[in-house]
Amino acid sequence: MFSYRHAFHAGNHADVLKHTVLIATLDHMLEKDAALTVVDTHAGAGLYRLDGDYADTSGEASQGVLRLLAPPPPAAPPKKGAPPKAEVPLAGAIARYLEVISDFNPKGGAKVYPGSPFVTQHLLRDHDRLKLYELHPTDGRTLAANIAQLDAGRQIAVLNEDGFGSATKFLPPPSRRALVLCDPSYEIKSDYARVLDFVDGALKRFATGTYAVWYPIIPRPEAHDLPRRLKTMATKAGKSWLHATLTVKSSKITTTPTGETRRPGLPASGMFLINPPYTLKAQMAAALPQLAERLGQDRNATFSLDAGG
Ligand code: SAM
Repeated sequence: MFSYRHAFHAGNHADVLKHTVLIATLDHMLEKDAALTVVDTHAGAGLYRLDGDYADTSGEASQGVLRLLAPPPPAAPPKKGAPPKAEVPLAGAIARYLEVISDFNPKGGAKVYPGSPFVTQHLLRDHDRLKLYELHPTDGRTLAANIAQLDAGRQIAVLNEDGFGSATKFLPPPSRRALVLCDPSYEIKSDYARVLDFVDGALKRFATGTYAVWYPIIPRPEAHDLPRRLKTMATKAGKSWLHATLTVKSSKITTTPTGETRRPGLPASGMFLINPPYTLKAQMAAALPQLAERLGQDRNATFSLDAGG
């Protein structure tokens, strides 16, 4: 069975990118009255405590959402004679992400971090539907217990099943409006190929659905190939696409003077969307430079944004 537990990673830079894109996409899709179905193929536990044991052990949120919540570092003083730099307001998509986080933390801070199921449920209306897949038995049980507290009735289904397996059965939904979030842990190398097969099959069943895939940017050929192949798939199907990446540090493995090997942890990740909202590109163009600046850990911090179709 898998050892990946999202609780160690909740609120890290990858979650910030993923959930910022998710919220911007949902906000746009929920402007229309017709019911929306959201399928979350890899849901995790749903809700996390950032002051709990898991998050404390990894400290990843301190380099992610908690950095965004902290006041920005003071701007360097202007050069002699130059006018003072005007303060740049927070990009709308980041402000909206922080607004959602604060809805879960009315007393401020981010003790509670909502994963994709809770972010989504928070935004959905009564007539929308949410299908959550989580295969890990412990996280599946925690997710079911967390969701039960919402008393959401038929609005939410929790399935302790393989998200790559049967999730396409919900496509197309009766209203023909759906967002599919595919966010595996990529613990198993075959996840990369399974994502491609899954999106290919889903697109064939429901060509006008919106598909959002998160992936890690790590030195592994499969990770490098995934966005390239998704782009080919979207282009061949005549569909629009958007690809956003955020890098916070170098991916180099270093050796300390005492000979210890230091692995950098996840340096970067990307979101690839097929049939994205037409508004998303402009929103991410404003948000990504600010995310790279605020979450960057060394001079390799950067971003990219590309779209087509
Ligand atoms: N989407 C979540 C969020 O944004 O809060 C995080 C999900 S986490 C990156 C990936 C999850 O997928 C893990 O909880 C893992 O147990 C689960 N998982 C792994 N393989 C799976 C599969 N084949 N089907 C469903 N869930 C799976």
